[in-house]
Amino acid sequence: MDKEKIKAGVRLILDGIGEDLNREGLLETPDRIAKMYEELAAGYTDDAAVHLQKRFHVDNSDMVLEKDIPFYSFCEHHMLPFYGTAAVAYIPDGEVVGLSKIARTLEVYAKRFQLQERLTAQVADAFMNELHPKGVMVLLEAEHMCMTMRGIRKPGTKTVTVVTRGVFDGSEALQNSFYRMLGR
Ligand SMILES: [Zn+2]
Repeated sequence: MDKEKIKAGVRLILDGIGEDLNREGLLETPDRIAKMYEELAAGYTDDAAVHLQKRFHVDNSDMVLEKDIPFYSFCEHHMLPFYGTAAVAYIPDGEVVGLSKIARTLEVYAKRFQLQERLTAQVADAFMNELHPKGVMVLLEAEHMCMTMRGIRKPGTKTVTVVTRGVFDGSEALQNSFYRMLGR
């Protein structure tokens, strides 16, 4: 990540707005924001394949569901946060991953500039491509700051996106048990 470019960009925005760059409170702001992006946009240098590499053998193929996973991302249209919770379910085909790796995989893609729809699909595809389960289903529910603090200003509005892959595709029974396990 090129922190100098980020700093220069932040200075330009502040200057463009008409702020005084030499005001005490703003002196360190470009530097702070450059450091912040190193953490918040860490997904660009992370790889889901690394997190999904360690697997454990299982004999059954019962659904594994991780829910209420908090996540924070940015909408690529406004560079404002969207955040909420995720649920990821998969039907193993002989192998499972450690439970914490589900949240890790989500982070890899959340810590980038995103569309919620694409983020949902990327998590599902990472599971299909790396773990090769029989199927995966991902549901993201998020509040977008670009909807709540600007534009149509509708606080509390949630955007829900769902992606199914493999045996979940077109299986009402599997999708229903996913929603049942979510308590919906
Ligand atoms: Zn937006």
